Amino acid sequence: MRVGLGYDVHRLVVGRKLVLGGETIPFEKGLLGHSDADVLTHAVCDALLGAAGLGDIGQHFPDTDPAYKDICSLELLDRTGRMLGQRNLAIVNLDVTVFAQAPKLAPFRGAICRRLAGVLGVAADRINIKATTTEGLGMIGAGDGIAAMCVTLLREVA
Ligand code: MG
Repeated sequence: MRVGLGYDVHRLVVGRKLVLGGETIPFEKGLLGHSDADVLTHAVCDALLGAAGLGDIGQHFPDTDPAYKDICSLELLDRTGRMLGQRNLAIVNLDVTVFAQAPKLAPFRGAICRRLAGVLGVAADRINIKATTTEGLGMIGAGDGIAAMCVTLLREVA
């Protein structure tokens, strides 16, 4: 068994789409980044890469590379999942927490789980998505950004 932790944060700005776990979420601001800035999916990628001992997302998909400009982060997740498969690693489970003052993410949790599960080729019940505010405290509470954290367990398969 191998455990991995991922964390990411992106700034919220006007004039960008808000994409979390591959789902476009209606909101007056979106996350700023080189890719689609899908902070949830980036945390998942980093947890998976960490558990596999494969470094981090910035190493594999640098934000200075024009190839990744505005890329759908589910594509990065797909590539990450393939790297695990090549190393005979399978996902036992993924647990994600999104830190956002707004919007409310509960209505999108099921769709995000199904989307991530589809990309990674695992059952949706191996993925859990939670969301919390920071009770108005700090940069998250001020609505300046959204953060996400993910922990995962991998197992070695023959
Ligand atoms: Mg990121």
